[in-house]
Amino acid sequence: MSLDKAKTILKKYWAYDDFRSVQWDVISSVLSNRDTLALMPTGGGKSLCYQIPALMMQGVCIIVSPLLSLMKDQEDALKKRGLKARRLTTDNMPDGLGMALNSIETTRTKFIFISPERLQNKVFIDYIKSVKVCLFVVDEAHCISEWGHDFRPEFRQINILRECKPETPLLALTATATEQTVDDIQQCLKFRKANCIRGEFERKNIKTLVIKDEEKLARCKKIIDKVGGSGIIYVSTRMNAEKQTKSLQSMGLVVESYHAGLSDEERKNRQERWKNGTLPLLVATKAFGMGIDKADVSYVIHMELPPTLEAYYQEYGRAGRNGKEAYAVLLYDNKDKETMLRRVAMDYPDIEIIKQVYDKLHTYYKIPYLAGKNRELPFDLADFANYCNMDKYPVYASLRILQRIELLWLKDTEYPVSKIKVVPPRGELLRILERTDDYSIILGALLRTCEGCTTEMVRLHEERLAYYLEWSKEKTTLMLEKLHITGCILYEQRPKGHYVVLNHDRVPAKDLYIPPQYYKDLKQRASEKAKAMIKYLESKHCRQQFLFDYFGMKANECGECDICLKNLVKPKQMRGVLIEILKEGERSLDSLMCDERFIDNKELIRILRIMLDRGEIRLQGDIISLARK
Ligand SMILES: [Zn+2]
Repeated sequence: MSLDKAKTILKKYWAYDDFRSVQWDVISSVLSNRDTLALMPTGGGKSLCYQIPALMMQGVCIIVSPLLSLMKDQEDALKKRGLKARRLTTDNMPDGLGMALNSIETTRTKFIFISPERLQNKVFIDYIKSVKVCLFVVDEAHCISEWGHDFRPEFRQINILRECKPETPLLALTATATEQTVDDIQQCLKFRKANCIRGEFERKNIKTLVIKDEEKLARCKKIIDKVGGSGIIYVSTRMNAEKQTKSLQSMGLVVESYHAGLSDEERKNRQERWKNGTLPLLVATKAFGMGIDKADVSYVIHMELPPTLEAYYQEYGRAGRNGKEAYAVLLYDNKDKETMLRRVAMDYPDIEIIKQVYDKLHTYYKIPYLAGKNRELPFDLADFANYCNMDKYPVYASLRILQRIELLWLKDTEYPVSKIKVVPPRGELLRILERTDDYSIILGALLRTCEGCTTEMVRLHEERLAYYLEWSKEKTTLMLEKLHITGCILYEQRPKGHYVVLNHDRVPAKDLYIPPQYYKDLKQRASEKAKAMIKYLESKHCRQQFLFDYFGMKANECGECDICLKNLVKPKQMRGVLIEILKEGERSLDSLMCDERFIDNKELIRILRIMLDRGEIRLQGDIISLARK
């Protein structure tokens, strides 16, 4: 019985007795060789859905994952259980891909984690073709979909896996997907037959509150004081992250910011301290959170409207993974809705502007017509926008559209990569290698460690080469530069920063084709998503029900969101509820205003006034008590 066998493996490596919710449905679907899309909430035990069947089948399991940190966590978790896993990222392959693949063979590694970019590498594709693969997994599969909120063009190339191994089952995993995204993912991955399994999504321990307040910061402080524990505040930009952090610090809170503008080290440091509880609160942009598993987050506050309900749902889902009571609070004010709709318009400039930016980009780098393909160019948005004589935002938005139609990639190289090619004709190369000086030593090392470097530009990590040579990094870089000057090698050093990569040769701007219907659809979709967000704010229905409905699922009224609570305590009943509370003892006005039952603060104040006027309650300072009769 395969269920028995699966349970034995579960017990042996994970020490669990049984599967949770739909885990077994997904596993048995995969075991019967069906392509499967599993929609499961974060923290719902998604990884077991591929790990268990992979261990029951012959061959390697290949997991495509969009995030380096995500891969590392999963690799570490598997290794801790004594399972053989390896991630093929540039930072953990000291001897290059060829050697890494050899070691995978010899150590019989079961789980291989890769980034989507890896699938552009011929060596790797040849490897896949040559071995037995039991299962392909695509993690965070919504990134594949035009409709998904984290759309990544390079993710679209994943279907090359299907071409390599038409008979191998494919498992796509995601936490949030609307009906459209569900269809799109299955189409993109060329599912042999549509097959989507939905997990249990209701998170009954999270109270979802939507609060309109013109004093967001003060409201934030109140919520944090009341709830305590670990939390995240989400904002939309780096600038706002810094600004709000400073304001909250000045209110006496221990808090730091987190965004893509910080150094890798600083981000790692802050994330680590937040994870281990020494730093209780982060004000973060969406750069924070994916792949971070912390069980005891007691609140997630959105200080600005997230661009989509998908993003919102995923972000607040980071609260309360330990099953204990947690809060998801969305704060908004009068300006927010308008800002949101304006942003959609700004994200989609006129096609004529996009064409202009396209043309300027090439003249900026002095690239003639019919040239430019595969060029990787260091990019500074401010400087380029200045060159265009335009504001930064429309320039950036235009480049993003050009990226979407795959004319170029914008890269934020967290991991800068130098490139190298060994050029001398064979004979001369051999002559140098016969010598015993540093030239010969480093050339020999390049030939041994950089596969394919005599035929094309390949990636080079100076640190790794230095380690291999047992030289200092300075000496290694200097020797590479010397070799470059003598013409023995082509050596392109890449500092950390932004790049633009051109995927095609330049064409005249008037001939640039941006499919008009496609562009219109994109814009339309973005605008629909923004409108859905606004509808959510204005909804008079249970928040949870609204969200589930949006994702095409059914849910009961949660009884815990602001709407459910408001319905619980109607203004008419508020007086009665207040009297009950005050019978137990006096309360400060602040603490009453933070009580979820009185989410409608305006109404609370109105009722309190009436009660004061009638002499039912007393107010001393900000302490309210029942008047003694
Ligand atoms: Zn509700």
